[in-house]
Amino acid sequence: MATYKRYIDKPDHEDYTFDDAILLILVFLILFTGFVIEGLRIYSTNDPWAWWSPVGLLFCIVVRLAGLSEPSALTVHAFLWYFHMLLAFGFIAYIPYSKLFHMLASSLNIFLKTSSPIGGLSPVDIISKGVSSTGAARLEDFTKKELLELDACVSCGRCQKGCPAYNSGAPLSPKVVIRDLKRHFIQKKSFFRSKGKPFNHSIIDTVISKETLWSCTTCGLCEDKCPINIEHIKRIVDMRRSLITEDAGYPPEVQKVFENISKVGNPWGDLDTKYFLATELQVPLLSEKKQTDILYWVGCFGTYKARNKKVSQIMFKLFEKAGVDYAVLGQEEKCCGDSVRRLGNEKLFQQLALENIKNLNKYKFKTIVTDSPHCYNTLKNDYPQFGGHYQVMHHSEFILELIKSGKLKPKGGKNFKVTFHDPCYLGRYNSIYEAPRDVLTSIPGLELVEMRNNRSKAFCCGAGGGRIWMEDQKEEKINSLLLKKALRTKSDVLASACSLCLTTLSEAVNNSDADIESLDIAEIVYNAL
Ligand code: SF4
Ligand code: SF4
Repeated sequence: MATYKRYIDKPDHEDYTFDDAILLILVFLILFTGFVIEGLRIYSTNDPWAWWSPVGLLFCIVVRLAGLSEPSALTVHAFLWYFHMLLAFGFIAYIPYSKLFHMLASSLNIFLKTSSPIGGLSPVDIISKGVSSTGAARLEDFTKKELLELDACVSCGRCQKGCPAYNSGAPLSPKVVIRDLKRHFIQKKSFFRSKGKPFNHSIIDTVISKETLWSCTTCGLCEDKCPINIEHIKRIVDMRRSLITEDAGYPPEVQKVFENISKVGNPWGDLDTKYFLATELQVPLLSEKKQTDILYWVGCFGTYKARNKKVSQIMFKLFEKAGVDYAVLGQEEKCCGDSVRRLGNEKLFQQLALENIKNLNKYKFKTIVTDSPHCYNTLKNDYPQFGGHYQVMHHSEFILELIKSGKLKPKGGKNFKVTFHDPCYLGRYNSIYEAPRDVLTSIPGLELVEMRNNRSKAFCCGAGGGRIWMEDQKEEKINSLLLKKALRTKSDVLASACSLCLTTLSEAVNNSDADIESLDIAEIVYNAL
């Protein structure tokens, strides 16, 4: 089977090396000599249990037909026995030098699996380490666990098969990233052995290109699919982090986003901050109320982007209708820093996190609710690393609570089909799969139709990891690929529960002639009241 796969089927032939041939020859010789020895033993001893060794018995029949005498059979048996032993021990000794080392490295990697959730990033001590030494620009900058992962990878390609960047034609395959780093690691080890001198050059643009690094949406599908728990995202973000010290390290559009966020706290550099919240909508401000049950985290998209502002307004209406005691931070809410951190600018992220935590800690509130899984993930999983510990709920969970408690009663009215797209940062990152589905199925007349890849196998919309800020020049964009998958369900509505997904999916729908509407679950509930 292994020979067929490598030399006839060849699904990923570029990965098969001379090492594969040596291993296959060794395995074949060990098996073959083992069966011949067994056949000779059965022949010389007239073994009464021979029927339990059918292949050995077959060789015994061949030996008998060949007319070999019993003493000659015993001599050949002795010779082959030592040869077989030599092969078997040689094979075992070769394991650490061959790709079979993954038998040990993979098990160890699974045993050492970190407890952090998918895509969880480690903080960098910017103050004592300094910005210049953050991230991984050289192989030496990876942790021992990250180097072990290079040996642990079995090149199975599961990560590549689902990767949205790879499927859209971007220059990124998580499998190839690991493979290229591994090849570099092996070359480096042999360099040490032959010349005895370390070499210390950057891997960026020599082993892994910047385009490869920028193509990742941090969707987490590769990590979900990897059978041996390799953490691709941490590695990619670590390499992105190393670019912060290079002037030309970041694409210009990303530099602009960083500049705007550090100047005024939002990616668009909009100085007319939070204009519509307090003035147009009369949304209660926490600075005036001082305490509240629900602090609604509006997020940059919910505040400034026309499509997402509609969802924020609907959330405020749902709060009013259900009699929820709520407020917003208004001007005190700065960008949470999700994209900034995933793009590798750890220094700016830490500034944002500390400022937001300082503002949040001024007030009393029970729960933070947000419609953005990116803000949700940052507030819930990233801010505790900097002392910000809050009870955070995604709006799908909160709306479900309001429905279950009878404070919101969707009536429905018409029959329609809805397919739900699982946002990566809600599903894979935080395992919230059922709440948005329960919200949707609580609406009379709504039929929920699943896409083929749903829940933990859901396809990304292409916006995460800071990709939302970058120009996408490819012909086949990730959001259009997702729209195609949604259209196969023949639904009337493509529902999502994320401000970034809503942005990219609405854009994909507007750029196509597809007869489907892109809505947030809050909008669907509000329309059904
Ligand atoms: S996180 Fe998503 S986009 Fe990035 S390498 Fe993995 S599968 Fe591809
Ligand atoms: S899924 Fe894991 S083991 Fe398989 S190729 Fe990708 S990184 Fe390697």
